[in-house]
Amino acid sequence: MPGLNLDAPPPVREAAALADWLDARRRVLVLTGAGCSTGSGIPDYRDASGAWKRSQPITWQAFTGDPLARARYWARSHVGWPVVAAARPNPAHHALAALEARGRVECLVTQNVDGLHQRAGSDRVVDLHGRIDMTVCLDCGHRVPRAEVQAMLDRLNPGWMGLDAGAAPDGDADLEGLDFSTFQPPCCPACDGLLKPDVVFFGENVPRARVAETQAALARADAMLVVGSSLMVYSGFRFARAAHEAGLPLAILTAGVTRADALATLKLAADAVQVLPAALGLPAGPASASTGQDDRADAGPKDVSAAPARAG
Ligand SMILES: [Zn+2]
Repeated sequence: MPGLNLDAPPPVREAAALADWLDARRRVLVLTGAGCSTGSGIPDYRDASGAWKRSQPITWQAFTGDPLARARYWARSHVGWPVVAAARPNPAHHALAALEARGRVECLVTQNVDGLHQRAGSDRVVDLHGRIDMTVCLDCGHRVPRAEVQAMLDRLNPGWMGLDAGAAPDGDADLEGLDFSTFQPPCCPACDGLLKPDVVFFGENVPRARVAETQAALARADAMLVVGSSLMVYSGFRFARAAHEAGLPLAILTAGVTRADALATLKLAADAVQVLPAALGLPAGPASASTGQDDRADAGPKDVSAAPARAG
């Protein structure tokens, strides 16, 4: 068959099913997770069965209460940040931006903190878990771009330059076995206070305004589409449940199992990087090494998880 790539056969059936589903909707609430960004080289936390791939991320409690844990966080972030800073949107991001340009996206809610939807051109975005490219002072609220913090870290920690480690989610890196007590975290240039990435850590709540904005968008939408999220985190799962309870059609495009599979009216276990562009008649992307899984440990009401909570 001319044009058929035998290494990565296009997911024709899934793309057609999604195209049909989208054709029947007016304006959709889109929720995206880590599976949307793995095709851009940003790792995810969970494998296709929803199990943890690596050690769990730092908690709010450890970051604010344990100087050694905080130093370890920043040492890893110092190595991991360049991976996030260099990441570029992939065909899944571009397809969702194109869907918005066609007037079909009520709101795009993302659990990712990489800002790649905005870089692809999406405008109606709620960053549910914040943005890794900004930091905020926990004492005075002063905000410092993460790129400037990287320069601060370079100056404060000349002996830590040039370390190499595997990339981990959210600008983290797999850096172990070092004396983190010698690593100097960044301080607020305005008050010398603690700088923290402007992301929602485990053990921290999603700001209420973001939840309210998403709920309002869901009330205006006539369907919900989940892309690349296992919905293992309550902060995202609750919107799928709310869509189901409101009687809205729920489509899930995620390579592995998700917590909301039983609620979905359409479940497509496939790679978003391939399926989304094909469903919209756009050039397809190469298959990503993604499991399509999102990550965060969850813990909503009535939900007990071994991992620290990221409720909200
Ligand atoms: Zn400050």
